[in-house]
Amino acid sequence: MSGIKLSGDSSGTTTTGGMTVREMTRLERIGAHSHIRGLGLDDGLQPRKGGSQGMVGQAKARKAVGVIYRMINEGKIGGRAILLAGKPGTGKTAIAMGLAHQLGENTPFTTMSGSEVFSLEMSKTEALTQAMRKSIGVQILEETEVMEGEVVEIQIDTSFASGDNKPGGKKGGMEKTGRLTLCTTDMETVYDLGTKMIDALSKEKVTAGDVITIDKASGKITKLGRSFSRSRDYDAMGSQTRFVQCPEGELQKRKEVVHNVSLHEIDVINSRQQGFLALFAGDTGEIKSEVREQIDAKVVEWKEEGRAKIIPGVLFIDEVHMLDMECFSFLNRALESDMAPVLVIATNRGITNIRGTEYKSPHGIPLDLLDRLMIVSTDPYTHDEILKILSVRCEEEDVEMADDALELLARIGTETSLRYAIQMVITASLAAEKRKSAQVEIEDIKRVYKLFVDVKRSTQYLMEYNKEYMYNELDDSDEYAV
Ligand code: ATP
Repeated sequence: MSGIKLSGDSSGTTTTGGMTVREMTRLERIGAHSHIRGLGLDDGLQPRKGGSQGMVGQAKARKAVGVIYRMINEGKIGGRAILLAGKPGTGKTAIAMGLAHQLGENTPFTTMSGSEVFSLEMSKTEALTQAMRKSIGVQILEETEVMEGEVVEIQIDTSFASGDNKPGGKKGGMEKTGRLTLCTTDMETVYDLGTKMIDALSKEKVTAGDVITIDKASGKITKLGRSFSRSRDYDAMGSQTRFVQCPEGELQKRKEVVHNVSLHEIDVINSRQQGFLALFAGDTGEIKSEVREQIDAKVVEWKEEGRAKIIPGVLFIDEVHMLDMECFSFLNRALESDMAPVLVIATNRGITNIRGTEYKSPHGIPLDLLDRLMIVSTDPYTHDEILKILSVRCEEEDVEMADDALELLARIGTETSLRYAIQMVITASLAAEKRKSAQVEIEDIKRVYKLFVDVKRSTQYLMEYNKEYMYNELDDSDEYAV
């Protein structure tokens, strides 16, 4: 379920000239998984007890996915596939989202549903290829030339700068060297900051080899790290201040700029037919395999020259049972490529037909692909876990709920489904708002329980009034278990 979260000042409303205007200071979409902010693991990758980062329970699955997280993070795996299998509403998608958050923005994470591969615009295998290539990041290190005077590196020895230019003089010659890198051509600034650094050196705030920045206005020193090779350079230099500045008319130094792109983006930009504008339109069409082969060769070449890093990310395919034999066989082969991402797939199906065939298989996935999967199963939630998830959702949706109302909602969740109970949070809060109450009470839960039926009651209703519906195919002898 998604909704819009509105929030304003504490009252949420203002009155202007007799008119009541609702203030909207923040407009934010709340998605089904927006409360999930990670896998909720501690430093040892153990699930935190009582839940964390929006994640509740499902400790075994979170722990298993934590291991996968570590392997991806350390760059140890590519081309592996993980299956999240479990009953509906047991948090498979939530765990995948948790993994995405945990990996952070620098690791590409592509999400799609199995049914998305069926489109008139491109073949199923092209859709899967694009999704896989969106999940491989390429970090291109571009070296740009620095123009005249642009970056100035000052290497200063305090003994000189403090007016005592005897090596080993006051404040210790070689022991007191520092390096300051400035992006300025203004020599006044260079001298000013240089003086501040010297001051810091003389006050023992920094030592030889420290790499620091100095705030121009306050003179505040921040240590960035240490550069031991640098301090050796100073030894060789002798005791003096040197301003290494790009001499006039010359290119002095190269500066590194990092571009983060996906293999798919490189494909589109280099596909003559499409051009980079297609990236904005999202209408990329099919890309020729020769283009991709050339790009792969180029990226490998850049990698070998140290000009690019390949970052294998994650492709998450939800509802994977929607794929057919052709797609599964494609995935099986694609996972063997050097450039394959980690594939995470999820399904709530048991033993069922593989789409479009008469063959039955566990989860509707062919046995040869199943055999290469690492399977992580999710378990149904206990009453307490459902209560905790609902309370996290109340917080996410800014809903105040009385303890007994929450308890009732958790009971409904246990007897119907977690999803149904989650959807009742916002509807019950609207019911409470209608009665001008800031808090959801039991009566609001009861009210929305009557207004919106769950699957079980809807089915019972259908069984009772079956004959009055059009095209009913259930005869009196049929049983429909829910
Ligand atoms: P389906 O098989 O029907 O696709 P699923 O297993 O993918 O279901 P989710 O969609 O992940 O289930 O879960 C249903 C709802 O419950 C989502 O809003 C999800 O964020 C929330 N949820 C599920 N498990 C947890 C959990 N362990 N902690 C917090 N929220 C959870």
